[in-house]
Amino acid sequence: MDVTELLKKAANFESLTVEEGVHLYHHAPLTDLMYVADELRKIQVPHGRVTWQIDRNVNTTNVCVANCKFCNFFRIPGHPEAYITDMPVYRKKITETLKYGGDQLLLQGGHHPGLGLEFYTSTFRQIKEEFPAIKLHALGPPEVAHITKLEKSTHREVLTALKESGMDSLPGAGAEILIDRVRRLISKGKCGAQEWLDIMHEAHKLNITTSATMMFGHVETIEERFEHLVKIREVQSRKPADAKGFLAFIPWTFQDVDTLLTRIRGVHNLTTADEYIRMIALSRIMLPNVKNIQASWLTVGKHTAQVCLQSGANDFGSIMIEENVVSAAGAPHRFTYKTIQDAIREAGFEPQLRNQQYEWREIPAMIEEQVVDY
Ligand code: SF4
Repeated sequence: MDVTELLKKAANFESLTVEEGVHLYHHAPLTDLMYVADELRKIQVPHGRVTWQIDRNVNTTNVCVANCKFCNFFRIPGHPEAYITDMPVYRKKITETLKYGGDQLLLQGGHHPGLGLEFYTSTFRQIKEEFPAIKLHALGPPEVAHITKLEKSTHREVLTALKESGMDSLPGAGAEILIDRVRRLISKGKCGAQEWLDIMHEAHKLNITTSATMMFGHVETIEERFEHLVKIREVQSRKPADAKGFLAFIPWTFQDVDTLLTRIRGVHNLTTADEYIRMIALSRIMLPNVKNIQASWLTVGKHTAQVCLQSGANDFGSIMIEENVVSAAGAPHRFTYKTIQDAIREAGFEPQLRNQQYEWREIPAMIEEQVVDY
């Protein structure tokens, strides 16, 4: 295989195979990958701005029976620290979110063995009744799979009920690496790779906006990362023509502080900045049918994320007024609505606030800046 030929293919938006992606990963100079990915970004996102968002990650419950080896967030049923978030807490958190300029909750939680579809639909309905303007970017394929199993229902029925009760979009959470060998090692209790993909395809058929993620830097091989990318591309290629499908792809790195994966198996996240930037560029190259590529400043930090904006990424994600899952495994980085824009400008781009549909928003006139610890 010839690197120059492969880069030409990529520059023409041709779909590269797993083997071709792996070859570029190992043999292409980083600057060449950055250049091609940046050119693709300019064509796919011609406005040239870097988008960002204000939302808050709120957890429905920390009770979980999936027992993922990289997760410090969950508690087993009956644990003294187990909780289920109730309406007074949502009320307080949404009111604060609006004060900080947010328009959305990213609602995620554990696989609670006692919470079925009715719990989620009634929670979404109550939130929407009181706060009709707030968007719910809610759950993820593993939670949909868990609810489907509890209800002995179908993915389609569960997704339809969630959508009708107020779910505005489905995050690409819990993808990790969409290879069952890897999932058996790190997240055995979650749905398998094919079920994750099937749920996303069903969501696309129902025209539910989704995103896709990849958590890497643990037990996966380089080949498996590229198999993951090709699977995402293939599901996106089967979405109905008028559906939004995967609006974004967000690769992020395993956070290893105090996780079981690190303590018991000795797996550490050894991803360097160079490697993350390489994966961002190759995500842009491997996914010509996904418009937005997001740099995960939360897991790699401001400086690496800034370089990603010259390497195919066009989005900086949310300031995350609150985040408890990835932070519990060591991610220390924080932004406010002012500092995220400063970071984007420092990288040479004009920042643009957006919503989950990637539509532009004005920054609210009455916005308050959150106080965060750095
Ligand atoms: S990552 Fe999610 S599914 Fe896995 S243990 Fe944590 S809360 Fe449960």
